[in-house]
Amino acid sequence: MQRRTLLKSLGTLALSSGTIGTILGQGRRGTDTKTTLILLGTQGGPNVNLTRAETSSVVMAGGQPYLIDCGYGTVRGLVEAGIRIVDVRNIFVSHLHDDHTVDLAALLSLKWTGGNTTPERTDVYGPYGSKQMVEGAIAFFRGNVDIRMVDEGRTVKPEALFTGHDLVASAVKQVYKDERVTVQAVENAHFLDRAKAKMPYRSFAYRFNTPDRSIVFSGDTAYSKNLIELARGADVLVCEAMTAGVRQQFASTASADPNAESIGRHVVETHSSTEEVGRMATEAKVKTVVLYHLLPGSNPQRGPVADDVYISEVRKTFSGEIVVGKDQMRI
Ligand SMILES: [Zn+2]
Ligand SMILES: [Zn+2]
Repeated sequence: MQRRTLLKSLGTLALSSGTIGTILGQGRRGTDTKTTLILLGTQGGPNVNLTRAETSSVVMAGGQPYLIDCGYGTVRGLVEAGIRIVDVRNIFVSHLHDDHTVDLAALLSLKWTGGNTTPERTDVYGPYGSKQMVEGAIAFFRGNVDIRMVDEGRTVKPEALFTGHDLVASAVKQVYKDERVTVQAVENAHFLDRAKAKMPYRSFAYRFNTPDRSIVFSGDTAYSKNLIELARGADVLVCEAMTAGVRQQFASTASADPNAESIGRHVVETHSSTEEVGRMATEAKVKTVVLYHLLPGSNPQRGPVADDVYISEVRKTFSGEIVVGKDQMRI
């Protein structure tokens, strides 16, 4: 009898410490002033699987979510994290590869529909092509808008709410500021000079500075001096990582035909090995490295890799804290 009473009171205690808020969909919104990093998707590359979503992260600052990248699974990841889609007002895209963008049309469409008669605005920041991408997303759900404006008395067009901004940041530069956060961007080393000569597209790393924390996102990149400069002294560097084993696999397919513009060669030249991640973190003197955009993540062809493999490889070149990211991790 006593045991039952104890269990009952323990149950009540557990419920009263936040669970009820989560059940009611309140999540941590508006109540948590501490800056929190939430990983929504940690899979590297265009790999759809059931273990990790494609790349997407949130910086929760002053109770407001700032979304960084929007790969496949982002919408579902936001719901799981207790973040309402209608509350996402600022989105920062690192580059326009689809493993970082493909859920954007879904997110904006659902936000417009879910906002009923008073949907809220959203600004999408990113390198060249971001403006066109937002316009394309709106074109994608044009039919939905037209039908609901006829049927449901809606009057606000998505063009008036959703805006893409093409940023230029060849050197470290402030690209956004509000009362909660300052955002800096810089071009990283995901696109090689020979590729950039043929296209206007660029790839960014971002730094979020809040009153209590600084968090840097590498985006996709090879070893990058610009990223080191951006990340200097940061509390957290969220960095893409590829194990030595995967790098070796891609390098061997590339070396089979060294003159070919192959996928293997692209991966080796435009992403960071675990050893390079540690080197960049050490040179930037960051406190903590959080690994995301993992190669391999859970691609069935390459299989999962134990956290220890990532940690021991990064440890060779970095002595600070190393966290292997997982979806829905809060740091
Ligand atoms: Zn990627
Ligand atoms: Zn990429």
